[in-house]
Amino acid sequence: MSKKNRIKCIMCGKVFPKGQGILLNITGRELVFHSKKCALKFLTRFIEQLVVEDKDKVSKVLDKLLKTLSEERKELMELKAKKI
Ligand SMILES: [Zn+2]
Repeated sequence: MSKKNRIKCIMCGKVFPKGQGILLNITGRELVFHSKKCALKFLTRFIEQLVVEDKDKVSKVLDKLLKTLSEERKELMELKAKKI
């Protein structure tokens, strides 16, 4: 396989074929990970850093997201109930 088709995991450095692994797009930057485990490790570090930078903001965003997810779950339940 040519070098062009190989990409490197930004967490562990493992080289793997293009098209495999996990891709995350954050603020327009594409981040590549060879496994879900490496992606999760990165996200955990990223969130920890965000909390250090602006704890109040992260807290607000978390509240908002949890509320949105809860509403989405409710909608899904209602949709399922209608089908029955
Ligand atoms: Zn990795």
